[in-house]
Amino acid sequence: MVDVMLLAGTRPEAVKLATLAQALDTRPGLRPLFVHSGQHPGMVEQALAQFDRAVDGWLEVPPRRSGTQAELISGMLPALDEAMRRYAPSAVVVQGDTATALAGALTAFWLGIPVVHLEAGLRTHDLASPFPEEGTRQMISRIAALHLSPSPAAAATLRAEGVPTERITVVGNTVVDAVLTIAARDLPARESALALLEMGVAEAGEQLVLVTSHRRESWGEPLARTLTAVRRIVDLHPQVQVLFPAHPNPDVRAQVETALSDVSRVTVTEPLEYPDLVRALRLATLVLTDSGGVQEEAPTFGTPVLVLRDTTERPEAVTAGCAWLVGTDVDLIVTAAGHVLSGDLRAAPAANPYGDGYAAVRSAVAIEALLGLADPASAADLQTATG
Ligand code: UDP
Repeated sequence: MVDVMLLAGTRPEAVKLATLAQALDTRPGLRPLFVHSGQHPGMVEQALAQFDRAVDGWLEVPPRRSGTQAELISGMLPALDEAMRRYAPSAVVVQGDTATALAGALTAFWLGIPVVHLEAGLRTHDLASPFPEEGTRQMISRIAALHLSPSPAAAATLRAEGVPTERITVVGNTVVDAVLTIAARDLPARESALALLEMGVAEAGEQLVLVTSHRRESWGEPLARTLTAVRRIVDLHPQVQVLFPAHPNPDVRAQVETALSDVSRVTVTEPLEYPDLVRALRLATLVLTDSGGVQEEAPTFGTPVLVLRDTTERPEAVTAGCAWLVGTDVDLIVTAAGHVLSGDLRAAPAANPYGDGYAAVRSAVAIEALLGLADPASAADLQTATG
């Protein structure tokens, strides 16, 4: 058996790696090993549980005081070094653009363990936005041995940067696999506020607007403008109910609660468990978000998205007519939301441009090939699995 370490420290990494772990389970000779970096304690476990998966190993990292990237990464590096020497995986998979992904890629690279980068090749080409993620993913691209790209455009970006074609596989985004897996289970709402909103939509013709915003570049003024826009949307549209699952970051939470706690028809909750988030995405008439993952998930249900960012490394939904980049200009958000709520602006009835639900199986087959384990049946399996 050959161990493949999957490293996660945040919610989106857990969601996007969970289906890869499931796919690796089905490959003879490969064994996924889920390691939690400790970056966001609690979030990884909560997300994985929805896929009937548990963490196999935790890093022993010192408690954080300053909250800086330097403190976070310098705390993880020795623990990652120890874990990778102990488990001796044949490959380490890192996902996206987090501090965990960077620290994991560096450590594996230094130990001579091949780095597999899932969701490789996303770019805004602006190191300041998103910060520090744009720099992080560019750095990982320089040392990865296998680049699993979510789209042909992302693969083209990597080739333009000099990454050899044979090191890149276009797999789609595993978040689409995740959202389809969870939606198919159709679990009833766990969060009571969501259950009530579902009744309101079904029985009273209400319209749900799902809002999430937590990214670093949104903190402070941009988030304040988004919250003003939310208040105006509620004022202007008496049938609208807003659901805002607030990120646990204490500053973000405090700002959201202060601005919205007294507004009727606005419900601020704890982060939703993933199946509830998927239910809300499916039910919503409109999504306002700065989240990468949510932008990628919403097109599965044809739910229109207003992206609360000035640039996006995920242009596919905008190009496909499922999302609009509005930034955090209050008037622009309110006007665009009005068009969606009145039905003037609809998401194009396109397939989700981020994937077809088979990204994990393609990734597992590419990892097998990287490790020299590909057997002739792999190509046939892939053909059968992906139609
Ligand atoms: N998510 C969730 N519960 C929530 C909000 C988001 O399960 O209350 C999921 C969401 O569906 C997506 C992932 O978390 O799969 C996105 O994470 P986040 O917005 O934290 O990060 P980003 O995608 O911006 O990196």
